[in-house]
Amino acid sequence: MGKYLGPVCKLCRREGEKLFLKGERCYSPKCSFEKRGFAPGQHGRTQQGRSERESDYARQLRAKQKARRVYGIFERQFRRYFGLALRKKGLTGLNLLQTLEMRLDNVVFRMGFASSRAQARQLVNHGHIQVNNHRADIPSMLVKPGDIISVKESARSLTYWKDLLDVVDRRTCPMWIDRDTKNLSGRILRLPERSEIDGNLNEQLIVEYYSR
Ligand code: SF4
Repeated sequence: MGKYLGPVCKLCRREGEKLFLKGERCYSPKCSFEKRGFAPGQHGRTQQGRSERESDYARQLRAKQKARRVYGIFERQFRRYFGLALRKKGLTGLNLLQTLEMRLDNVVFRMGFASSRAQARQLVNHGHIQVNNHRADIPSMLVKPGDIISVKESARSLTYWKDLLDVVDRRTCPMWIDRDTKNLSGRILRLPERSEIDGNLNEQLIVEYYSR
C-alpha cells in the first residue's frame, strides 16, 4: 500500500487544524499552520468561515478525510477498514477507530518510538520492528492484544535507537500498551477505549459518510 508523497502541511491547512503529522516540527514555530492557518490554494483565505454553511455531506467528507490523513491511509484501505469495522460486533465507529489504532505503524508511534506516524512507518518499512519476535515490516499489519512489539536486536546499536533511549521516557504511552523502555518493547494489553483515542476525530460522521 502506497503512502501520500505530497506536501504534508497542506493537509493540516485543508482540514483547518493541526493534525501533527510532522513530529517535533509541529510543536515548533516552524509549523506552517501557525504561520498560515488558512486553506491552501488561490481561494484559501476566502474559504475561512465556510464551515457554518457546510452541507451534511461536506462535514461527513471532511471527518473522513481528516481521519484518513491523521493515520496516513489511502481511501481504498480506509474503506476496507470500515468494512472490517462494520462486520464486527459493537459500535461501527469505535470499531473503526480501534482498527486504525491497531496498525503496527500507529502502535510504534503510540509507544513513543517515533515522533510521528510517518516516521514510525519508515522504521517498520526498514525492518527495525518485530512482532512476537518475528520480523514485521508491513506498517498496515494489524496487531492484537497479547502481541509483543519490539525493536530488532541488530537495529538497537543504530544511533537512532541509542538516542531514543534518552528521550523516550518523556514521551507518553497510552494505558493499553505496557511499554518497557529499557528493552525497547511493549505489549498490547487490550483495545483502546474511545477516551484514549484522538478526541478530535468524529467517527459518527465517518459512519454516516459510508452509509449514504
Ligand atoms: Fe501540520 Fe505539523 Fe505541518 Fe504544523 S508542522 S502544519 S501541525 S504537519
